[in-house]
Amino acid sequence: MAVPLKNKTFTAIDTLLDFLEFSEENRALVWRRPRFPLMVPRRLAEKMGKNDPTCPLFLQFVPLLKETASLESFTLEPVNDPLFRLGPKYLQKYAGRSLILTTKACAMHCRYCFRQNFPYETNAGGFSEELDLMKKNTTLHEVILSGGDPLSLKNSSLIPLLLELDTISHLQIIRFHTRTLIADPNRLDAELLSCLARLKKNVIFVVHVNHPLELGEDLTEAFDKLKDLKIILLSQSVLLKGVNDDVFTLEKLSFDLFRSGVLPYYLHQLDRVQGASHFEVPIEEGLELVEQLRERLPGYLVPRYVQEIPNQPSKTPLLKEAVR
Ligand SMILES: *Cc1c(COP(=O)(O)O)cnc(C)c1O
Ligand code: SF4
Repeated sequence: MAVPLKNKTFTAIDTLLDFLEFSEENRALVWRRPRFPLMVPRRLAEKMGKNDPTCPLFLQFVPLLKETASLESFTLEPVNDPLFRLGPKYLQKYAGRSLILTTKACAMHCRYCFRQNFPYETNAGGFSEELDLMKKNTTLHEVILSGGDPLSLKNSSLIPLLLELDTISHLQIIRFHTRTLIADPNRLDAELLSCLARLKKNVIFVVHVNHPLELGEDLTEAFDKLKDLKIILLSQSVLLKGVNDDVFTLEKLSFDLFRSGVLPYYLHQLDRVQGASHFEVPIEEGLELVEQLRERLPGYLVPRYVQEIPNQPSKTPLLKEAVR
């Protein structure tokens, strides 16, 4: 069986299915020509069950024929980001914090990604336009580095951006939203760590983790390096059918994150992006799960269950009952 020993990332479906020892029968579930190409980092492929199409990691990263289902309510741009685009790589939806779409690249392709069709600015360039917009807007106190994934940028682009952001006096916080460390904990190399150590702003990492299998000792070590720099570690997850839509998985995820030094921040209701309808958990079920979590966990380990509703001034909290 051809196993790419040197390749760090699987991009050919058959190579991955061979590696996962998939039977002919189970291969028939897979969509061979997905619009959003396959990209599975080796670290995650190694954690996937063999010949197991129900594995929560397999489901997150391998395209299934189910993606071809077309439902009118699942659209190409579910959160209407282009409306809030103030510059080619710049969004501001909420007061006080703006978001830089640092790159379109990610270390992995998640099948439920709401930005899989986003019309990214492909012209690489620098960030002078975004930096100018931020410098002029003194109501901002926080910049969010998103994408794609900010840690997909090479240090030679990321470090100058960070150093420049660090000089904007009205900014207090530089926040990363990233999933790259799940693919490769070693992305936190010495050069990047020493840059992070020099920053005067407060730094927050919001790591995207959906299932306890994504964690591990290697990742805890990476998080420890960030904690040593007094960087705040939070996590966000998407509620996904077949992946984490049961109370035991969510409970374990919170405990395991905490043991790795991370506090759960958000649990997102799935954004209705085309191709992801098979991941949707009805909100009533999500509310029930969060109620059960609340009974089992200290309050600080219960993520805020939220939904992104276009044109709202914040993420919208989903709550079982409103105050009477
Ligand atoms: C989610 C989001 C944020 C961050 O919201 P917080 O509630 O501060 O975590 C900021 N900008 C955009 C465009 C977002 O989608
Ligand atoms: S890492 Fe985030 S932005 Fe990249 S594909 Fe996954 S969900 Fe989308």
